[in-house]
Amino acid sequence: MSFISKPAYKALANAMPSISPTEREALDSGTSWWEKELFMGAPNWETFNSYPYPKLSLEEQAFLDNEVETLCSMLDEWEIHEQKALPDHVWQYIKEHGFLGLIIPKEYGGRAFSSFAQSRVMSKIASRSLTTAVSCMVPNSLGPGELLLHYGTEEQKDRYLPGLARGEEIPCFGLTSPEAGSDAGAIPDTGVVCYGQFEGQEVLGLRMNFSKRWITLAPIATVVGLAFKMYDPDHLLGEQTEYGITCALLPASHEGVIVGPRHNPGPPFMNGTVEGKDVFIPLDWIIGGVKNAGKGWRMLMECLAVGRGISLPALSTSTSEMTYLNEANSEIASDTYMLEAFRYLVTCGLNQGGKPAVMTAIAKYYATEGMRKVVNHGMDVGLSFADHVADAHEQGFINEEEANKLLHYNARRYDSMLTDVFDLHLQEVLELENPHISKADATGTDTSVQSAPSHSTSP
Ligand SMILES: Cc1cc2nc3c(=O)[nH]c(=O)nc-3n(C[C@H](O)[C@H](O)[C@H](O)COP(=O)(O)OP(=O)(O)OC[C@H]3O[C@@H](n4cnc5c(N)ncnc54)[C@H](O)[C@@H]3O)c2cc1C
Repeated sequence: MSFISKPAYKALANAMPSISPTEREALDSGTSWWEKELFMGAPNWETFNSYPYPKLSLEEQAFLDNEVETLCSMLDEWEIHEQKALPDHVWQYIKEHGFLGLIIPKEYGGRAFSSFAQSRVMSKIASRSLTTAVSCMVPNSLGPGELLLHYGTEEQKDRYLPGLARGEEIPCFGLTSPEAGSDAGAIPDTGVVCYGQFEGQEVLGLRMNFSKRWITLAPIATVVGLAFKMYDPDHLLGEQTEYGITCALLPASHEGVIVGPRHNPGPPFMNGTVEGKDVFIPLDWIIGGVKNAGKGWRMLMECLAVGRGISLPALSTSTSEMTYLNEANSEIASDTYMLEAFRYLVTCGLNQGGKPAVMTAIAKYYATEGMRKVVNHGMDVGLSFADHVADAHEQGFINEEEANKLLHYNARRYDSMLTDVFDLHLQEVLELENPHISKADATGTDTSVQSAPSHSTSP
């Protein structure tokens, strides 16, 4: 066999394209966890059983029960949809209560929550408002905070983390360009080493040219993370000419940074372009300093690995909450059960401190596909929902405006909206039909006290 296969492999090897350094970095980045055993076909179930089931600390549970509950009660996705933005008082609450600093350590003023807690928080918010969930997710997972924590210099951490934890700094991270999305290694954005003027002095830095699109939170960001390819054609740093993908942090107010028009990503969270032509930045704005020049790809792969294992599965798990009927069909229930189990597994792995890139990539893929399926089912169920609304309108339980509002809202927040509208009318209807029964009698609630938000917000 070796007489045939060896020369054949040799000939084929020459015909195959070689793996580029960027692709090699992507393959080598991240760690593996228990899933490695599974893929090797020899899972050790005792090891699996010994992993601690993810639990919330008392502080995390209290945050979920209080701050998150309050935030959810402030959210009206319809109003957000109409205004194309989160109301100012909601942003204020988010910032003041540390929603943007869940992963930041306490010494910088953050909440230092576990991956599991982060997932639970995001999922609960997403069950109420996708726009709000995405707005909170980015600073906690895919944004500069995560990169700074792992790779930033002490000066960079001191400069940015306290402001990020308090919500005084709003971050965004620009990787995608008009020419490179899925194929992120092909970004055309550049940073060329040169001398330039910074704060009245000539310093060594980078002349940056970049054009990014689809960047979440860019329109309101105060600090912009950028991925670009770094070059040193004049060898001002050393022998190397091409450094590869590098990440830097720039204040959004820095001269030449243009935060462009907003995109419309669907739910109206902030998303837009970031551009710059011949923007000069000092070298110490590279995340982690010059020693991290060219390490951007690995940094992104590892941070994305963690982020995608938390954010998107959390968002996807909440989807079934958005499909309004209690009689959700069995597929919605079973898919959601699977997504929820997945979430526990992945965040358990992340709680161990690793960066399981393969498992989180699978989690992201299956969670978003699962979400797509659940939303599709929700749309189907939505057809009979239209009949219910028409019925309710015909019988006078809701007026035309409310009926239109509900129908327009199809496939988004049916459950909470139904509760809202029917709550408003419950008292009236009950009193009409049974003049002797009060709402408190009928529902077992005490109407004399301020009731908790009636919406189902738990994931
Ligand atoms: C809501 C939203 C928020 C975002 N936020 C950010 C952000 O904060 N920061 C950031 O940097 N980016 C962000 N992005 C950009 C996101 O990362 C890109 O949209 C994504 O990488 C896909 O790139 P693209 O849109 O250029 O699509 P493309 O890469 O052009 O893909 C288009 C289609 O072609 C398919 N395709 C592509 N390549 C292949 C292939 N080799 N084989 C088979 N099929 C292929 C894709 O699956 C897709 O269906 C955001 C995007 C959205 C929609």
